[in-house]
Amino acid sequence: MFEHDILIVGAGLAGLRAAVEGVKNGMNVAVVSKVHPVRSHSNAAQGGINAPLTDRGDDWEGHAYDTIKGSDFLADQDAVEVMSREAGDAVIELERMGVIFTRGEDGKLGTRAFGGQKVARTFFVGAITGSALLHVLYEQSLKLGLNVYEEWFVTKLIIEDGECRGVIAYDMKNGELHTIKAKAVIMASGGNGRVFEPSTQALICTGDGIALAYKAGVPLMDMEMIQYHPTTLARTGILLSEAARGEGAYLLNSNGERFMEKYAPDYMELASRDVVSRSEQTEIDEGRGINGNVHLDLRHLGRDFIEKRLGYLQEVSLEFLGIDMAENPVPVRPGMHYIMGGIKTDINGLTEIPGLYAAGECANVSVHGANRLGANSLLDTVVFGRRSAQHAVEYVKSVSSNSKSENDLKLEKERLQAILDRPKGENIAKVREDMAVNMTKGIGVWRDQKSIEGALENLKNTKKRLPNISVEDKGKFFNTNLIFALELEFMVDNAEAIIHGAITRKESRGANYRTDMPDRDDENWLKHTLVYYDSNNENNVRVETSPVTITKWEPVKRVY
Ligand SMILES: Cc1cc2nc3c(=O)[nH]c(=O)nc-3n(C[C@H](O)[C@H](O)[C@H](O)COP(=O)(O)OP(=O)(O)OC[C@H]3O[C@@H](n4cnc5c(N)ncnc54)[C@H](O)[C@@H]3O)c2cc1C
Repeated sequence: MFEHDILIVGAGLAGLRAAVEGVKNGMNVAVVSKVHPVRSHSNAAQGGINAPLTDRGDDWEGHAYDTIKGSDFLADQDAVEVMSREAGDAVIELERMGVIFTRGEDGKLGTRAFGGQKVARTFFVGAITGSALLHVLYEQSLKLGLNVYEEWFVTKLIIEDGECRGVIAYDMKNGELHTIKAKAVIMASGGNGRVFEPSTQALICTGDGIALAYKAGVPLMDMEMIQYHPTTLARTGILLSEAARGEGAYLLNSNGERFMEKYAPDYMELASRDVVSRSEQTEIDEGRGINGNVHLDLRHLGRDFIEKRLGYLQEVSLEFLGIDMAENPVPVRPGMHYIMGGIKTDINGLTEIPGLYAAGECANVSVHGANRLGANSLLDTVVFGRRSAQHAVEYVKSVSSNSKSENDLKLEKERLQAILDRPKGENIAKVREDMAVNMTKGIGVWRDQKSIEGALENLKNTKKRLPNISVEDKGKFFNTNLIFALELEFMVDNAEAIIHGAITRKESRGANYRTDMPDRDDENWLKHTLVYYDSNNENNVRVETSPVTITKWEPVKRVY
């Protein structure tokens, strides 16, 4: 029998930061992760984490305003205020826990510039920031006595009397399904990048927790807000961190011009990501690209500097394209990177279901609105991971008993067996790829009514194919075939919510750039889109909207 006070789904930065807080407060806490904790996607974060530290003249209001402007005024300003005010403490706390941040010549914690911000306030560990943070949080949580269900896959949330009471999870090592009971569940399951191809996100980023919450009745907010990162490596789609431009790299077109001069004269290469991605795509579409790419040029920074501050980027460039960044420019193009949307929560991570919290990339608090600033996501994970756990600790004290039911387990066993029993049919990888390629086509850097409807048509077709997908491995030991099938179902739910968000929003704002409606429309669309799973409705989807919280920064035209 598996029972805990707080169960956290996901062992990335949001999950582990929440775990540390829960255990420190005397709770019996467990995390479930479908991979070893340090293989979570947080491990891949390169560039850094933002914080406005006052000892160098920065202030939370400056960071908050840059974040809100970056969000194209769609972020809820009360949530951004919380994040900016708590950022300094959160980063110092990580340093005290043992993160060896890179320091400047003066011995102080070093910073680098990141996009959409005039102040250099991004703290970093070389180009392996996520990995450094994740290892320290993992070590700290184990030291404090965290329980870890490693390589367990959550298939369902247990909801009883309208409250969340645990999960059903599949132990990948032996193929057994179990109920894990808990008084509160924190969803920290990361992004859904693989709903698109290509994507900078790891293959495990399939939006599982987003779909689990959606199916349990929680609305998904602003799902149409998909971030395309300006510098993904040609051919592979692997990320080259914004740290490159933060440290001074140029973007060049086929004429060797720094084209950002035309689009963002003030911020140049360090404008917001949506702006830089669109500028690159315009250059490529108008014939000034280089085989569908533009060039990222670091040569003027010098070999020593590149190797010391951006060593990991140089490694990636050499390994995948054989290009030495100190000698030659690197071909890059915009690529899917992050989802601003996600499970709607309040500023304490609470969803609309008591006992169910969400934090990190799967959640939408909302601090990123229509476009996230680089290095604000790692910050989001630690600030709201901590807050969700703080709130869950109080909530748990009011819950007297754990779930009693075993009914969900029985139903899940039958559902998984039915998938295994299917006759030979469609290939999972093929269906997954068709859907993801079409999502990129329909909901890309540019989109319009026709492209979004095309994505919807394709999705309907994918949904028809789903029941014919067969799982060839019938075994119990690490049946990754079965896991892929379950992930694909989650991805389809994510795709559905993204498409319906995009159909609903009739304007261009941040990442949602519609060529058929190129203007931002504050009068009608200074609103969040909310997509609900609703089995009574056509397509099982219901869409609503809700107001954006404005505290003190009235929306103005966004120029860089
Ligand atoms: C290449 C790359 C570079 C980035 N660089 C930066 C950067 O420099 N700065 C920045 O601020 N942001 C960066 N980001 C974004 C940032 O890293 C992520 O948004 C953030 O780390 C997400 O953390 P998380 O804890 O929410 O999720 P993740 O780290 O993705 O963890 C998700 C966890 O959920 C678990 N999980 C998922 N589904 C299930 C399931 N069904 N059952 C059990 N467990 C499950 C996984 O095993 C994993 O442990 C980058 C992203 C990428 C892809």
